[in-house]
Amino acid sequence: MRGVRQRIVRAAVVRPTCADGARRVEGPDEDRFTLLAAALEAAADVERADRRPLRVRVLGTDPAPRGGYVALFGRPVELIGERDGVALPDTLTLATGGPGPEVILAVEELPDGGAARGGTPGLAAIAVLVDAPTGPASPDGIPLDTIPSGESPIVAAYSAWAKGPGTHVPGVGWVGEWPGSERVARRAPRDIPASPPSSQVSQGAYLPPPRYLESLASRWGFLADRCRACGRTTFPQSGRCRGCGRAEDLAVEPLPKHGWKVVARTWIGAGGQPTEFDPEVERQGAYGVVLAELVPGVRATLMVTDAEPGSVRIGTTVETRLRRLYALDGAWRYGRKAVPEVGATPTRPG
Ligand SMILES: [Zn+2]
Repeated sequence: MRGVRQRIVRAAVVRPTCADGARRVEGPDEDRFTLLAAALEAAADVERADRRPLRVRVLGTDPAPRGGYVALFGRPVELIGERDGVALPDTLTLATGGPGPEVILAVEELPDGGAARGGTPGLAAIAVLVDAPTGPASPDGIPLDTIPSGESPIVAAYSAWAKGPGTHVPGVGWVGEWPGSERVARRAPRDIPASPPSSQVSQGAYLPPPRYLESLASRWGFLADRCRACGRTTFPQSGRCRGCGRAEDLAVEPLPKHGWKVVARTWIGAGGQPTEFDPEVERQGAYGVVLAELVPGVRATLMVTDAEPGSVRIGTTVETRLRRLYALDGAWRYGRKAVPEVGATPTRPG
């Protein structure tokens, strides 16, 4: 970075949905990977909006299951671990300096949590967009070399945001918080297992690991098959058009993760759940499941999360987030769940 003032030009903060006293903590189906996944999806939105490929790097211990980043982002991300003996703040400095703009992702503990905005300390995933070291410099943003050494640029970026409108560095194009992530309504539940509980395998519903991994991109990335012959969209992907039966001439079509409309809903629990969901039902009681439709013929069955019972009705528009589903074979499995949509776009403080 010598002689070049790289700047943090955008950032997105993803905070867990529960509070334990003054601290923000993960909800029952959240963990470091689901926080990172939300931040990565914010980065993907930036890439789509800016129409330029971004280098994406994930700092720190890698919490993703095998194949997880490719399934979410469509291509691998670079992992920069503390395994190299480099502390996180220094790692970020090392990570920058590539040929183009890049996004750095990390999960970090936020010490002050932005008191001015009523924030709380606790874990957060942050996506930071750093501009290119060459080419036209961004006129605004936080110059990386003005961040005191030893301080994490990620926390610095967050603190600048957290001080609120008018006090953060002018011109920083914040992507903003993940919608709704500040709406803390729930006390943190107790007894959230840190490691996957050993759960029973339910007969019939069991998806063996190879098939689970194979279908990750379609389930996590909401990929559908679009038939070039008859125009029909088949979701989930099955390798065959549901309209005309063709197995060739199918184009992969990523579906939006917002804007699904609930067409049916039910509650599952008290013995009606597949056995892998036993721990969930024991801890929290029945859970909601909805059938949601994007356009006629394109539907998904989704568990409901982050919502009070009754707040999801037929006609409610939902967005989807990657969350823990259940534990199987000693590992967590993840999938998209439905959350009532708050706004179509993230908030933009300032
Ligand atoms: Zn077809």
